Amino acid sequence: MKIFIGIFLVTLSFLIFSFNKKENNPSTAQQFIEVLGIAQDAGYPQIGCTKQCCADYWSGKETKKYVSCLALVDNETNEYWLFDATPNITEQLQMLQSSLQNKNQYSPTGIFLTHAHMGHYTGLMYLGREAMNTKSVPVYAMPRMKNFLETNGPWNQLVHLKNIEIHPLVNDSMVAINKNFSVKPLLVPHRDEYSETVGYIVQSKKKKVLFIPDIDKWEKWNKNIVDEIEKVDFAFIDGTFYQNGELPGRNMNEVPHPFVEESIRKFSGLSAAEKSKIYFTHFNHTNPLLKNKSPEKDRVKQLGFNVAEEKMKIAL
Ligand SMILES: [Zn+2]
Ligand SMILES: [Zn+2]
Ligand SMILES: [Zn+2]
Repeated sequence: MKIFIGIFLVTLSFLIFSFNKKENNPSTAQQFIEVLGIAQDAGYPQIGCTKQCCADYWSGKETKKYVSCLALVDNETNEYWLFDATPNITEQLQMLQSSLQNKNQYSPTGIFLTHAHMGHYTGLMYLGREAMNTKSVPVYAMPRMKNFLETNGPWNQLVHLKNIEIHPLVNDSMVAINKNFSVKPLLVPHRDEYSETVGYIVQSKKKKVLFIPDIDKWEKWNKNIVDEIEKVDFAFIDGTFYQNGELPGRNMNEVPHPFVEESIRKFSGLSAAEKSKIYFTHFNHTNPLLKNKSPEKDRVKQLGFNVAEEKMKIAL
């Protein structure tokens, strides 16, 4: 009898162990976030750059990097959402194919836009008549972003032809997108020429993810980034420039971002567990974190932070 109880307990613990492993393993998880791009709006290599950073790509030493984008995938319901529509959307949807249970599902279930800078919304053009000609893809946008798309060509043609259907968002309000996920926009300070700028919180039944690809400086935000990181399980945040002076001959106050070095200092007092939630992304072509290998990338990782990589997945 004791032997049977023993075998039963061993089998039970093995089943629980495998179940947990399956749940937390990004390669077998049904629900996950996949990184589809890590570069700043202009991508890598950057047009016209003759410096070493981009020469390394043209001479074959470095690989291409797509513009900052996350996909939220739910293989239980065969749905997926994009966070931003980038100029690399064609390659990014192809990259995502191998992770989708339902193959040949190219048209996204929905798209959440952060703001009207070129890397974050111009991919919408590939949903139009000249390209995929989608049918009423829900595009979630804040009021100014929505108005911008509805009142300017060529974007308003996507609206008129019903390639997209714009769903208005309200700052700090959750939207349930299916039975497993909700999404909440958070306004952030940024160069708001054409639209406001938001970051997003993605919430599953068990996990929360923060995504802020663009923000001027942490200090200008009405929320404390350290508190916000504490509330989530993963945070993909603006790492555009590694350090001050990275753009020689250009006033970096015109394109403000938290330098990765500044963020590292700001987060230096956090516990190892808090630091490990942080993934830097949205790298300028000049940023050494964009490279496949660099001493700066090693340093950031040694300090306990993460650097986002294309095809990286986190289970939700
Ligand atoms: Zn950007
Ligand atoms: Zn360059
Ligand atoms: Zn921007």
